[in-house]
Amino acid sequence: MSDRLLPKTINVGQFVALERRVDGILTLTDLPRLRGDVAGEHAEIAVELVFLRDEINRPIIKSHIKGNVTLKCQRCLEFYRQPISSDSLLAVVANESMAEALPDSYEAVVSEDNSVDLYRMVEDECLLSLPLIARHHATDCDVLMPTMSGTLDETMMEKSTPFAVLEELI
Ligand SMILES: [Zn+2]
Repeated sequence: MSDRLLPKTINVGQFVALERRVDGILTLTDLPRLRGDVAGEHAEIAVELVFLRDEINRPIIKSHIKGNVTLKCQRCLEFYRQPISSDSLLAVVANESMAEALPDSYEAVVSEDNSVDLYRMVEDECLLSLPLIARHHATDCDVLMPTMSGTLDETMMEKSTPFAVLEELI
């Protein structure tokens, strides 16, 4: 069953038992913490969630998130569209110690009473997929003199090349 309006708080047991699939579009109005971390008021995040049990009967949410937000490039200070994309396997567990025991392939959603706020869960996924430093793709950025150390190293290597050639000549 598909529903463009994503339900907010759900009972995971019920959704898993029915192996439900839900999808919908969330905006920054639904995601206040993300709103605080991005520039601009408009963002659309398409969400697709599938509920199932894994081979040892854990309730699992397969999450696929895709969208984009506006960020301010920290190099040229212009706004740009940052794509967000995330595919995750989330296991719903009752407490932190169960969360720590999960295999690495799972992310934990801790819920004592089996209820999960899907908006909050999606928001966590979005926040995790934001870049640590907001920056244009190098070819789109207006600033031509990058100050990143990686690029400086490249410049130094280029500079060293003529010396290396000289050494070979001597
Ligand atoms: Zn830029």
